[in-house]
Amino acid sequence: MSTKHTINKIDIEFDKNHIWHPYTSMTEPLPVYPVVSANKNIITLESGEELIDGMASWWSAIHGYSHSVLNEAVNHQVSKMSHIMFGGITHAPAVNLCKKLVEITPKPLTKVFLADSGSVSVEVAIKMALQYWQSQGVENKTKLMTVAKGYHGDTFAAMSVCDPINSMHSLYQGFLPEHIFSPAPISPFDGEFDNTELDTLETHFINNHKEVAAFIIEPVVQNAGGMNFYHPDYLAGLRQLCDKYDVLLICDEIATGFGRTGKMFAVEHANISPDIMCIGKAITGGYMTLSATLTSNKIAKGISEGAAGVMMHGPTFMGNPLACAVACASIDLLLATNWKKTIVDLNIWLSQYLLPCSQLNAVKNVRVLGAIGVVEVNEIVDVALFQKQCIEQGVWIRPFGKLIYLMPPYITPEGDIKKLAEVIFNILDR
Ligand code: PMP
Repeated sequence: MSTKHTINKIDIEFDKNHIWHPYTSMTEPLPVYPVVSANKNIITLESGEELIDGMASWWSAIHGYSHSVLNEAVNHQVSKMSHIMFGGITHAPAVNLCKKLVEITPKPLTKVFLADSGSVSVEVAIKMALQYWQSQGVENKTKLMTVAKGYHGDTFAAMSVCDPINSMHSLYQGFLPEHIFSPAPISPFDGEFDNTELDTLETHFINNHKEVAAFIIEPVVQNAGGMNFYHPDYLAGLRQLCDKYDVLLICDEIATGFGRTGKMFAVEHANISPDIMCIGKAITGGYMTLSATLTSNKIAKGISEGAAGVMMHGPTFMGNPLACAVACASIDLLLATNWKKTIVDLNIWLSQYLLPCSQLNAVKNVRVLGAIGVVEVNEIVDVALFQKQCIEQGVWIRPFGKLIYLMPPYITPEGDIKKLAEVIFNILDR
């Protein structure tokens, strides 16, 4: 019997009535736009309209869409085996990927746990920290410390260290673990560093370190919690405080990893290494969901010496061969290009073309770091209206709160950055 494929129009009504999209209401959902394909940095709608992508699918599609090298890696792997359980089995895509990760991440990080998504890698990082202290016989280190304005994912442990207001902790009060928050870093990335920030932070360490297993932070760029670009000296000082007070440092590089800030990993801006690092998003060039949690020999050994003797996590799709194969290809592709120069170029274009926005009354601040451009406005953006106006002008941008931001695929040409910035200007200039 032959299978007949018919090309149906995407059933928008069904979508509206039955499918949840990220952070939306089921009864009053925001509009969604039917997409049929994406190539390079262009997204094609079902209507035939083409949009310049300013989002890289939430930081992930760094090489653009439908890249021939990544397509080939997926096709090659799918013809061999798309999935196999990781319990009791290993395979070349996972081993090759982990070798590459050990090579490109800061030195002490040599042990890799592969997981399914960014949030899960954060869960794993937290488990690692808790298990480590348990194995050392330190029983009261059961809390986490972090900063306001952070974002680490939507699963419960990850959410518990997100900014309490942005991630609506009140909704889950009574169930969500309560951790220790210090103020968000303030000194700007390329401004003067105010040392008193570290004094405040140290007070939190003095008061709480005995019960704190780990401090978790997004290095240098706080992403979904406010697009805050903070000073690398803060991170360097934090590393010292963690050492001084026996607290592990978890750096969440899920958004910043793989070159986005101009360094392969954002911790390099501060010349520090975390004890545990989470990576995800761009790891597969945006092709598949995959993440990894890396740690040092010391922590891994500590965990293994504990009562459990094992790392207590093992998802069904751990080490998925398709995801690992495309991740290997994506990392090779990145390393084969002059990616640092690419990010510098993107930085120059974003700075140049977003600058006119800073003259507008609606705009509070324009800031650019690496290949991330942010226009912070004074009023909360009407997302539905803003996106409609973007689409009318041929671009794809998804703002949140008072933040309109660009983090385009690395292959985006100058003309398209200019166009993205001009559309933001035109909309805000009304
Ligand atoms: N950490 C950071 C810094 C993130 O930006 C995100 C996703 N926006 C996550 C964790 C969660 O990743 P995921 O959505 O893949 O679960």
